[in-house]
Amino acid sequence: SSSQRADSVVVIGLGRFGGAVADSLARLGHDVLGIDENPDLVQTWADTLTHVVQADATNADVLRRLGVGEFGRAVVGIGSDVEASVLTVLALEEIGVTDIWAKAISTKHGRILERTGAHHVVYPEAAMGERVAHLVTGKMIDFIEFDDGFAIVKTKAPREAWDKTLSESALRSRYGVTVVGVKRSRADFTYAKPDTLIESGDILIVSGATDRVERFAALS
Ligand code: ADP
Repeated sequence: SSSQRADSVVVIGLGRFGGAVADSLARLGHDVLGIDENPDLVQTWADTLTHVVQADATNADVLRRLGVGEFGRAVVGIGSDVEASVLTVLALEEIGVTDIWAKAISTKHGRILERTGAHHVVYPEAAMGERVAHLVTGKMIDFIEFDDGFAIVKTKAPREAWDKTLSESALRSRYGVTVVGVKRSRADFTYAKPDTLIESGDILIVSGATDRVERFAALS
């Protein structure tokens, strides 16, 4: 509705995860209403967020009184107390919040949240664990996977691509990956073109199906 605050987000549970979400949203210039039942956390966040309230978020009437229904978006950062997390998502759904994001600490928790009305379920620890697994060997400098099995990685150019243009090394037909950008040390990133010459030490940004980019990065 027109009364919805387009740029405003409610963040419930200002623990490690919810606190980081709220802090980033505030830095990006959004209005943030933070809610936590812990008065110490409410105190801690008072200067950073637009509004911070001490309340039990599992209670729909409490949320309604706080005007949470006027926010289009909510992030539920409650994790370890699964019951409180689920009841909070139910309460948000009941008062008509149309974009509910919730943190899950396990796949079972996540499945319950989805059934309860959460529109987006995130698994911060599982996601970061998977990310670190990709980065820990040093083959990938950065790794982003999208939920449709597509990924973008930053990796060192493999030896077989050195001293050739991208069209000569034909990485797309041989490995099923597309080089998107190239970075030479002490230079800016450039968009990859067929005649871009790759040298030893160059860093590549490569996209493609996750298993393809994983295999390609392992060459480096
Ligand atoms: P993290 O691991 O990200 O710190 P936690 O699950 O430990 O996540 O923290 C969740 C936060 O949510 C805590 O600050 C806690 O006080 C708050 N919280 C838990 N239950 C409720 C509730 N019913 N209403 C409001 N805040 C809650």
